[in-house]
Amino acid sequence: MKLKVLGCSGGIGCEDSRTSSFFVDDDVLVDCGTGVGDLGFEELRRISHVFVSHSHIDHIAAIPLLVDSIGEVCRHTVTIYATPETLHILRAHVFNWLVWPDFTAIPDRRFSYLRLQSIQIGESLQLGTRTFTALPVLHTVPGAAWLLDSGETQLIYSGDTTYSPDLIAAINTCQSLRYLIMETAFPEEMHAMAIAARHLCPGILKTMLNELTVSPEVFISHLKPGMSDRIMEQVDALNTHLRPTRLMRGQVFEF
Ligand SMILES: [Zn+2]
Ligand SMILES: [Zn+2]
Repeated sequence: MKLKVLGCSGGIGCEDSRTSSFFVDDDVLVDCGTGVGDLGFEELRRISHVFVSHSHIDHIAAIPLLVDSIGEVCRHTVTIYATPETLHILRAHVFNWLVWPDFTAIPDRRFSYLRLQSIQIGESLQLGTRTFTALPVLHTVPGAAWLLDSGETQLIYSGDTTYSPDLIAAINTCQSLRYLIMETAFPEEMHAMAIAARHLCPGILKTMLNELTVSPEVFISHLKPGMSDRIMEQVDALNTHLRPTRLMRGQVFEF
């Protein structure tokens, strides 16, 4: 499998700031933030599957426009995979005819440009030889991390989470884990904010990494623009055995 980072920032405003979105092979997205806006039409029209970590806008911003752009022109259906709670929020607050049309009913319910398919935490979905599994996280809204398994090796994307023993336990079962993308949204001096907003700061990241029994390459995402250099200095100073590095837009992982 190939995963390309379209966006991995916690916000917008700096030259390279695009929010969470990852392009897998040429037909799958994992999260659908503002990074998807950089894709051309020929790339967009091949996207059939979108695995969503949770309902926050930085992770779903481009879904409504993606479906609108390719649905009618290409007579193409995009399927969103997420937990039932996340799908409920998308239905109630995005595809509600007020914020955006309900594309699960366009052109009609038998053939629509948008499908919503629920996946429970711990459940897997197979696309050819590729397996996508929803893992537990702890955030202000229900969410999931995603485990991508090529059949040979694995990559985990944490989505948004604070310290989660369940996520650590799930990661520790992945014996073929090659890459781990972990969020670290806040600098250490905003520790209380990180707890309240159920994100990570470097200190909490260190606690999680120290509890891992697997040894993947670790990459840090979701840095707040304007604070990103400071957060990474603090991550570098952690001196953990796994030595995380900063995830970059445009970076490609083969696994
Ligand atoms: Zn979030
Ligand atoms: Zn986020």
